[in-house]
Amino acid sequence: MSKPRGAETTTAIGIDLGTTYSCVAAWFHEHNRVEIIPNEQGNKITPSCVAWDGTRLLVGESAKNQITRNPNNTLFDVKRLMGNRFRDIRVQEDIKSWPFKVTEGNERKPMIVFEHDSHENRSYSPEEISSMILKNLKEAAEAYLGKKVTDAVITVPAYFSDKQRQATKDAGALAGLNVMRLISEPTSAAIAYGLDKSADLYCPKDKNVFVFDMGGGTFDVSLLNISKAGTISVKAVGGDTHLGGEDFDREMVKYCAQEFKDKVNKDVSENARAMMRLKVACEKAKRDLSSTTETSIEVDSLFEGTDFSKKMSRARFEKLNGRFFEKCIEHVENCLRDANIHKNDVDDVVIVGGSTRIPKVQQMLIEFFDGKRLCKSINADEAVAYGAAVLAEKLSGSRNVVVQNLVLEDVTPLSLGIWASVGGMSLDVQDMSVVIPRNTPIPVTRDHMYVTNHDNQTCMKIKVYQGESKKTENNIFLDKFTLDGIPPSPAGKQAIKVCFSIDANGILNVSAQVVSTGKKRSKAIASAAVNRLIHLMKKKLS
Ligand code: AMP
Repeated sequence: MSKPRGAETTTAIGIDLGTTYSCVAAWFHEHNRVEIIPNEQGNKITPSCVAWDGTRLLVGESAKNQITRNPNNTLFDVKRLMGNRFRDIRVQEDIKSWPFKVTEGNERKPMIVFEHDSHENRSYSPEEISSMILKNLKEAAEAYLGKKVTDAVITVPAYFSDKQRQATKDAGALAGLNVMRLISEPTSAAIAYGLDKSADLYCPKDKNVFVFDMGGGTFDVSLLNISKAGTISVKAVGGDTHLGGEDFDREMVKYCAQEFKDKVNKDVSENARAMMRLKVACEKAKRDLSSTTETSIEVDSLFEGTDFSKKMSRARFEKLNGRFFEKCIEHVENCLRDANIHKNDVDDVVIVGGSTRIPKVQQMLIEFFDGKRLCKSINADEAVAYGAAVLAEKLSGSRNVVVQNLVLEDVTPLSLGIWASVGGMSLDVQDMSVVIPRNTPIPVTRDHMYVTNHDNQTCMKIKVYQGESKKTENNIFLDKFTLDGIPPSPAGKQAIKVCFSIDANGILNVSAQVVSTGKKRSKAIASAAVNRLIHLMKKKLS
């Protein structure tokens, strides 16, 4: 690990807060470029893991290194819980596969529980756990840069909902960071790619760039346009916040556990430690299968003294995960359709995220784009943090002309709308009235007019949803509030103006106003009480 650099670096950092690994980077004025910052162990990516070993909280490498010994108190995949509710179906599915305990807390939040013989239970929200990872990265950056870091740009999957974004911002605040901006991961990768390209002297035209980003837990696709002048505009995004390498590992673990049962009639699935050892072996085998066509999964004394050994071919791996791979291509098609761009008009296909090293994934993409070569020039693990560091430098007032000229135009990934107890537009009980359709460029402000539907109606309940279904019940419920003080009048006579405004971070603010009187109520949707969280966390850690 090289020496701290001191004053020639910016104090604003870029952080890729990943499901399985995270990465931090900063702009170095001395070299006029971004550098990826190594952690204490000298590695450029840090496991997104937090553990409680009975006396200490461990974060990053030290947490991951003791995972097979202490599976019930080693947390990973926490990004999958961010901004979600305990009872969400996908959260429930994840919980079943994790060795650590998750319970329902206040406001239906999932709370992660550390259990240890010598201690009372300790429970933490996903934001709190993520803040520990962010703090670890912040401290690694401070040690490397030799100065205090206060500002950061943090990346989120393009497909993250408003709540998931807000939770990420809260985690940043808990870690003592001023979150200058949240930026979508593929957009961030596109900055890294765009900057890489700007080194080329011959860049004759604007380019349509498709970014395919598949990491450990999330999958994002984006169609962006990069102009000669340095404007990166996102035309459409898509993906799945619950699809990635962890799913492939899980399928392999299920398959191996079944093999073990068939062979020796023993069920390992109830034993957290054995399952974790199997998972580690399967993940390693998965990586091996990216460079070889056959490998073996071996775990000594897996369960009740019995060893496990199984050959795994690349073909078997591909078959086990075939349905996931097919889903990826469906998302690619949808994204191109949303962007209104034919695949032949895509100039470059850029792949990022650890799971894009899987040969089948690359092969399916090449076939879909009729033999186009994939751009792998940017590092799959580091590109996202790299782009975030460039944006952090820009927002700090960079002296670099290329960085200064960079303009970002992002879009909202999911439609936003309301169900309201109003009339005049034949809203069924569960109909979603869309105010801002998905893939609208942000920041954006849109108004929608509604009218009262009862005689003498004096208030209106507004429920805010995000998603693509016509029925609100199938979408993500964000928040609700009531506008009162409507002057009593016959039905349809009072107009209510509902205004949605999305900032550059993709975070929503909603207001409703009685047009005749000007009376207004506003709500920063899903904004958590960060100060309360900070206070609670300090108490727990003391
Ligand atoms: P990321 O979130 O981008 O750091 O990606 C992490 C995911 O990539 C994890 O699920 C890893 O198991 C997976 N991964 C990393 N390297 C490889 C590889 N060579 N082959 C297959 N998957 C990989």
